[in-house]
Amino acid sequence: MASTPPQTAKQSSFKQSISKSQTSTSKLGEMLRKEGQITKEQLDEAVALSKKAGTTLVRALTALDVIEPENIVSFASRQLNLPVISISELMINPETISLVQYDLAKQHMVFPVRVAAKVLTLAMADPTNTDAIEEVHNATQLSIKSVITTEKDIVEAYKKYYKISPEEYQSFFKKIGEESEETGVEIKEIDDIGSLVSEAAEDVEAGDEEEIKDELSADAAPIIKLVNGILTKAIKLKVSDIHIEPYEKSFRVRYRLDGALYVSLNLPLQIKNALVSRLKILASLNIAERRVPQDGRIKLRLGKKQAVDFRVSCLPTLFGESMVLRILDKSNLNVDLGKLGFSPENFAKFNKAIKNPFGLVLVTGPTGSGKTTTLYSAVNALNNVDNKILTAEDPVEFNFAGINQVLVRNEVGMTFAAALKAFLRQDPEIILVGEIRDAETAEIAIKAAMTGHLVFSTLHTNDCPSTVGRIIDIGIPGYMVSSALTMILSQRLMRRICAECKEADPAWDVERDRKKLIEMGFFEDDLKDLKIMKGKGCPACQGKGYKGRVAAYELMEVNESIKQAITAQLPEDQLRKVAMKEGMRTLRQDALSKVRAGITTLDEALKHTVHVKEALPQYLLTPDELTFENGDMIIKEGNTDTTFYQLIQGSLVIKKAGAVVAEISQPGEYFGEMSALMNKPRNATIISKGKSRVKAFPGDKLRETLENYPEIAYKVITSCLFRLNSADRKLAEMAKKLAALQVKPVAGA
Ligand SMILES: [Zn+2]
Repeated sequence: MASTPPQTAKQSSFKQSISKSQTSTSKLGEMLRKEGQITKEQLDEAVALSKKAGTTLVRALTALDVIEPENIVSFASRQLNLPVISISELMINPETISLVQYDLAKQHMVFPVRVAAKVLTLAMADPTNTDAIEEVHNATQLSIKSVITTEKDIVEAYKKYYKISPEEYQSFFKKIGEESEETGVEIKEIDDIGSLVSEAAEDVEAGDEEEIKDELSADAAPIIKLVNGILTKAIKLKVSDIHIEPYEKSFRVRYRLDGALYVSLNLPLQIKNALVSRLKILASLNIAERRVPQDGRIKLRLGKKQAVDFRVSCLPTLFGESMVLRILDKSNLNVDLGKLGFSPENFAKFNKAIKNPFGLVLVTGPTGSGKTTTLYSAVNALNNVDNKILTAEDPVEFNFAGINQVLVRNEVGMTFAAALKAFLRQDPEIILVGEIRDAETAEIAIKAAMTGHLVFSTLHTNDCPSTVGRIIDIGIPGYMVSSALTMILSQRLMRRICAECKEADPAWDVERDRKKLIEMGFFEDDLKDLKIMKGKGCPACQGKGYKGRVAAYELMEVNESIKQAITAQLPEDQLRKVAMKEGMRTLRQDALSKVRAGITTLDEALKHTVHVKEALPQYLLTPDELTFENGDMIIKEGNTDTTFYQLIQGSLVIKKAGAVVAEISQPGEYFGEMSALMNKPRNATIISKGKSRVKAFPGDKLRETLENYPEIAYKVITSCLFRLNSADRKLAEMAKKLAALQVKPVAGA
């Protein structure tokens, strides 16, 4: 919290009083220790750090990653029986603000919220700070009523109400005291990799293999410097993976940046073994074992500020061991929901679904579409002391404080399904299952979601409607899917245009390419002021024109209409239409909106999404939905109308000449199609058995429906055959009975 203003008398007294308030008048740390929230060592360390950095204990505890700020707040609230507030949700009267000077507020991390009946409600990050209460009381001559909030909330309020400068605001977020929690190998940045490569090559040529092995643990060895160079360069460029690959005649290092691979270095073949060995030592792998795949982890410290983890995978190939290092840089993991790139509508829907206390939330897309980041962000947003969160992951990519993460290991029987079963006995609020691959996992996940748990998972499906089909195909009945699911999010990652060299893309002329653009999915209205942009290429993006990535989303909120559609097991196309009517924007539409906003290129949008053409005509999209009570007649034998129907819920009986001949009870089943097809009067009466819901479709369109939509034709035929089959069975039974009746008199005679 050391600040930018010049050193004044006030400024120096400020530092003094911070340390004084931490040591003498704040009981919070001691309370946290006594209640077992933190250890004595952690407290001592935090107190020392807060003194050294001239900051509050709360900040020091947070900086040391000992406890989450939200957890401090809820702990203090419970212990002191004080309410928790969120200043950002309140309207603050300017007169209230003027009662407490910014310097005083900042000194104690407090904020005046309200004055009523000579009582000032004071938001405090540390309500045990009695100095703060005393000084604010002296300054205002008001009684003080404390309420609790996070320091972040208070800082945001400073920005909004005291209008502090951006520099001042930033000073609250300056990192403090990283040196206290450092483990792993520390390395420095390297400028000239080229000279390191030749040095390493010379070194390897000169020494024999045994010598080199010894050298691999000495810091000075050129090969070590080279490995460090490869790793630091990757971190600096913010690549996601490093691929180190030996071939017959070459040995190369490739980086994956924003999803695309490119060659970073071509290395001399002779250093192959030494380089791989060094990496294996760093990852604690067996360097003598070169025939089987191995997995490990490297923890690296870059200067004093940054710690980076690498997940290392080593694979024996024809020409040596190929290594892939996935960079797990926490600062790169965007776990802020607000920054994922949702449209405001989708953001609201997403938030609603994850704030639901129960239900199944699915995130879908191919590998590398950013599903994990979305899920982690959601779980992170829900991570507080009130929730028990359990995750089953394969692999565990990031560790979160306060979340119980389980590594799935199929080889020892710790499958997703096994983990899930065990989770349910652990009484969690929130469960994350890395992936639903089989019926067993799907079934437990759905049951958990239906019994009061919030369940997150992923599926490898292309879009929202096909996800529903996939779960039903796995073997979960439609009615269960519809009652458990609350939201499906499908996503893709597209490269983001470099902000430094963005320009209009000369390849496109909106007027000239009008027709083409519409075919791609743009609406007429979109074209009016459409500017298609691209990155020209500049040093900031290494000439690529792209920097970073942005997601395209398709979000299907499972509301009443969607639930009905899922229960009725509507075909994918039809479900998509219903969802679009309910406000779902397809992946392509969302991608195009990001083209329109100049965030990504048209090429990227076209590459990662497909345009879903209008699949169904209006009459199939918006059938009339009808509700019938017990005994209501839906179709009357002999009538000449031709409307055909689909059963949504309930069951129906078919009567011929007054006798029941069959029953219809399968949701999704079609009936009443005969009259339309054969142009004959109704040959049976259909009556609602109990309450039922059906959809009515115009009979004069049945023929073209069957001709154009094989999926529906198939369902109609299945429905017919099903009824025919059951009628046949009845006939057989009757014939049997009849035979018995006829036989008896003969026997008796
Ligand atoms: Zn650029």
